[in-house]
Amino acid sequence: MKLDILVIAAHPDDAELGCAGTILTHVAKGHKVGIVDLTKGEMGTRGTPELRVQEATKAAEILGLAARENLGFKDVYFQDDESHQLELIKIIRKYQPDIVLANAVSDRHPDHGKGSRLATNACFMSGLRKIETQLEGESQKPWRPQYVYHYIQNNYIEPDFVMDITPYWETKVQSILAFQSQFHDPSSQEPESFISTPDFLPFIEARAREFGHKILTTYGEGFTVEKMIGVKDLFDLR
Ligand SMILES: [Zn+2]
Repeated sequence: MKLDILVIAAHPDDAELGCAGTILTHVAKGHKVGIVDLTKGEMGTRGTPELRVQEATKAAEILGLAARENLGFKDVYFQDDESHQLELIKIIRKYQPDIVLANAVSDRHPDHGKGSRLATNACFMSGLRKIETQLEGESQKPWRPQYVYHYIQNNYIEPDFVMDITPYWETKVQSILAFQSQFHDPSSQEPESFISTPDFLPFIEARAREFGHKILTTYGEGFTVEKMIGVKDLFDLR
């Protein structure tokens, strides 16, 4: 199955926090969007890998995803090296996305910057004919996504462009809250984590409002690019 957009995320919930509004916008326009989570987030303070898989499935339904996979890389320890690149290249060639949305280029959690570099490298390498991969015994064709955009997560990064996600803000919040084990829950007996405090979700809203404010709307998601963006019509810009 070909996807229009593939989101690559170090942990289940990175995609929801960073770019759920953008996913929802494009699913509503009829595009096929999928997520590949690199790890099960097993080193997270709260929850279990099994629970996070269930939560990711629930979030996928809320987002209307055409596909969601987990590569099962080791949380915290995975590397941007040959074996991990080859596994990701297989996924890129399988889904042939035109656009890839990847983790922030650097962030508080080192896996985000590492996942970002791994995604960028795998997208380029996936286009190299002499890198041979197989999926279910079949040789795969080379495929290079046209664009890689990086969503912004925890640390502030000045975006190169902002997507207006105002119509999808409420649904984005629902997709984040599908990861119930990770965020503030007064009834939870688990230890507090950086993202489970009552201040975390208001911070996510403040960030979305700040980006939205910059483009004269209510809520936005910011992205950075590595390639120069070109336009055919100045009226496309707003
Ligand atoms: Zn993460």
